[in-house]
Amino acid sequence: MTEPNTADLMEKIVSLCKRRGFIFQSSEIYGGLNGFWDYGPLGVELIKNIRDSWWNDMVRSRDDVVGLESSIIMHPKVWEASGHVGGFTDPMVDCKVSKQRFRADQIFYSPVVIDGHTAGYVSVLESERIAEELQEKADQFKRKKALQGKLEPVQPRDFTEAKPEEIPLIPSPATGEPGSLTPPRAFNMMFETHVGALRDESAIAYLRPETAQGMFADFKAILDTGRVKIPFGIAQIGKSFRNEITPRNFIFRSREFEQMEMEYFISDQDDWAKWHRYWIDWCRNWLVSVGVPASHLSEYDHPKEKLAFYSKGTTDIMFRYPFGVQELWGIAARGDYDLSQHARFSGAPLVYFDDATKRRYVPHVIEPAVGVDRIALAILCSAYCEDKAPDEKGNLETRVVLRLAPRIAPIKAAVFPLLKNKPELVKKAKEVRDLLRPHLTVFYDEAGAIGRRYRRQDEAGTPFGVTVDFDTLGEKGAELKDTVTLRDRDSMKQERVKIGELVGMLLEKTR
Ligand code: ATP
Repeated sequence: MTEPNTADLMEKIVSLCKRRGFIFQSSEIYGGLNGFWDYGPLGVELIKNIRDSWWNDMVRSRDDVVGLESSIIMHPKVWEASGHVGGFTDPMVDCKVSKQRFRADQIFYSPVVIDGHTAGYVSVLESERIAEELQEKADQFKRKKALQGKLEPVQPRDFTEAKPEEIPLIPSPATGEPGSLTPPRAFNMMFETHVGALRDESAIAYLRPETAQGMFADFKAILDTGRVKIPFGIAQIGKSFRNEITPRNFIFRSREFEQMEMEYFISDQDDWAKWHRYWIDWCRNWLVSVGVPASHLSEYDHPKEKLAFYSKGTTDIMFRYPFGVQELWGIAARGDYDLSQHARFSGAPLVYFDDATKRRYVPHVIEPAVGVDRIALAILCSAYCEDKAPDEKGNLETRVVLRLAPRIAPIKAAVFPLLKNKPELVKKAKEVRDLLRPHLTVFYDEAGAIGRRYRRQDEAGTPFGVTVDFDTLGEKGAELKDTVTLRDRDSMKQERVKIGELVGMLLEKTR
């Protein structure tokens, strides 16, 4: 099997997602809204399976993690205490000519140095090849201006590092000309709204930019239920909203997205590094269990000097997306910062009383935080492949197949009567569909040649195809009566299976 690469692959995935009803641009009939996406009939099953798998493994299968669903709009003080009102900002740059906006840390620039003298500047947007692209632009700059002398290697820096005197000299990525970029300014990414009938300052509230603060704000309420003892976690799945300056890369960076976060509270005297490692490993293993290949994953430790003052360590699990290696899952050791802040701002005592030692303390926390959409994209990118399969006439043709892990696949089994115009086949196939339906997501399809029907399910990632043929009806002998062919999506191998054994077999294979 072959895997197309990079930009080509991304284009193919976006087009497959639209064509087959995984993901659409939101409000497309009105021209779309940048940074917002809709999940269609197959997509909604895919993300539901991602959520359910995570919830099952993170909450239901463990004694030490409980669930929560907190409200999206919370008391505005929550976001003061968390630091989001003051500091949840990205550095924004405007291009005054093109009216485009950029994140300053996504514009990279370099002086063009010839024989030790700066002759001008070049700039590019963040990519996998920043240094190479800047070098190419520096070469072009030298040629276009017919400059003589030795061109020195470029020194890439991002726009947040630009000195005030450099800013007017750096070309805008939109126009290629200098002089139109503004200095970076802090842009708060929280969406504001008003609660109640008044529209003044006192009514301002925010759509949550993360789900995590719900777990801190409800820490005491959950402690008071008496179900939990340190170490324990509170997990939540829900929508978050960030007014990203440059939403991009399909569903990788959106303005409305879904998070799966868990706050794991440990003793202030426990070994945080041990727990941090434990959760990094858990997250990596879980990703592999839903079909993300370990070979596409890596870890990035945030350098100590770039961590917030309260943070003990943050490691991101990175995934090799077609557009570059990017953060998929962040695992942060946040000390007692969040609980202490909320205790200070709310006046509520957010402490834990240890019955055994009779000691009262503020627990520390480890936070694995991930986006459902980023996982869905990683899964789709890992699953997409093209291979060769015979068409109706036996000629080899390119087959697009989504090799989704069966537990994540939107449809687990497709049921086909071999021919649509034979009522006995249709009747039996519908019986098989009805037999499977209470146990698995099934799709019944009788339209077109059987090969084409297989191909449609391959593209949808359906791991199993069940075909009812004349043997099923017993036309070729009693021993094959009430058996069907079970086709495996990946190997395309077919085996004969008794209808009575189908449910057990498919449940086992798709668990
Ligand atoms: P980035 O650096 O990519 O903006 P972040 O470090 O701000 O991400 P966190 O605040 O740690 O992200 O959020 C936790 C997780 O939520 C991320 O690892 C990612 O999976 C997901 N996430 C964050 N922002 C977005 C977004 N705009 N669109 C989709 N998913 C997101």
